[in-house]
Amino acid sequence: MSIEQVERYGAHNYHPLPVVVAHAEGAWVTDVGGRRYLDMLSAYSALNQGHRHPRILAAAREQLDRVTLTSRAFHNDQLGPFLERLSRVSGFSRALPMNSGAEAVETALKAMRKWGYVTKGIPADKAEIIVATDNFHGRTISIVSFSTEAAYRDGFGPFTPGFVVVPYGDAAAVEAAIGPNTCAVFLEPIQGEAGVIVPPDGYLRAVRDACTRTNTLLVMDEIQTGLGRTGTMWASDHENVRPDAITIGKALGGGVYPVSAFCADDAVMEVFSPGTHGSTFGGNPMAAAVASAALDVLVDEQLAARAKRVGESFRAALRGLGSPRVKEVRGRGLLIGVELHADAGRARPYCERLMNLGVLCKDTHEQVIRFAPPLVIAEGDIDWALEHIRTVLA
Ligand SMILES: *Cc1c(COP(=O)(O)O)cnc(C)c1O
Repeated sequence: MSIEQVERYGAHNYHPLPVVVAHAEGAWVTDVGGRRYLDMLSAYSALNQGHRHPRILAAAREQLDRVTLTSRAFHNDQLGPFLERLSRVSGFSRALPMNSGAEAVETALKAMRKWGYVTKGIPADKAEIIVATDNFHGRTISIVSFSTEAAYRDGFGPFTPGFVVVPYGDAAAVEAAIGPNTCAVFLEPIQGEAGVIVPPDGYLRAVRDACTRTNTLLVMDEIQTGLGRTGTMWASDHENVRPDAITIGKALGGGVYPVSAFCADDAVMEVFSPGTHGSTFGGNPMAAAVASAALDVLVDEQLAARAKRVGESFRAALRGLGSPRVKEVRGRGLLIGVELHADAGRARPYCERLMNLGVLCKDTHEQVIRFAPPLVIAEGDIDWALEHIRTVLA
């Protein structure tokens, strides 16, 4: 029923696996027929804390009975505590809350440009932002303006100017592209949508050094990689790199509510003054209460450390399968890509077979199966999934 209705009444901008989820808890979902599946995608990393985490649900329920929306025309009693928590977890002195990831990215782009004019002294309308090939930062017109993926761009022009694209993983290319009008370099510390591309060791560090030398901001998009997913709170922690700002989203809402944010220190955040930016729903009390609980769960349950430990053994086990179809197993923490050899065919049929065996995951970029389960996943469940993965990849 539901699938036909979606086909009939919805836009065809997705191609979902044919499973209709009706219930979920932890790392498991149940379909309308009562069949259980292990969720190894976790809404593209928006469910790091697992489905319906009791603490996050309790915070949401409690807030529903108090106040849900005020707009930023007034204060609400949840936003302050949320911002303070976020500052502690992010390491940045301030945050600007939004709703979707794309909005956090748009906020970051505006901050980078305005900082370029106000602080760096770039002439009006000349600011350039350096980005990487195969990036994914969301779906708005300005964001797809600097995508290199035809499917994301074709037919959506004219595009927003002011972006310079350099090859991902090549720090020398970043350095060569930085000019007097460059306000910022904007990167994913690991490219998730591109197929879980981990850059070469030293890349983030070298880019950081080039940015520091040239008075250029380094901004990281941690929407998919952040909040523990890769085994540290932030993926740039792997190289002990501190960017000048980050965008976060997805798991910030604990799988319950869309919450995103742009985080930076005073020197960047002060470019915003009343009237220069905003969002009707950004920072609303429901979002703040849910995101506070989502952050508390990540910290109290030490989910980043868990992702590191469980992810390392999962990757080792995937390599240990020794499948001749597999070209490479890569990733960090519980963000894992299994790239298939060209002659093994596309990844989608493997995901369909895994679904039939009770394991939900999704192909990305034709040849890659992405495994990104909730960070709370039981090790026994991973072992169970591995047996099915072994069958499908044999
Ligand atoms: C998902 C994602 C976004 C966009 O987030 P939405 O909530 O879908 O707008 C941006 N950047 C990265 C790295 C992402 O993974």
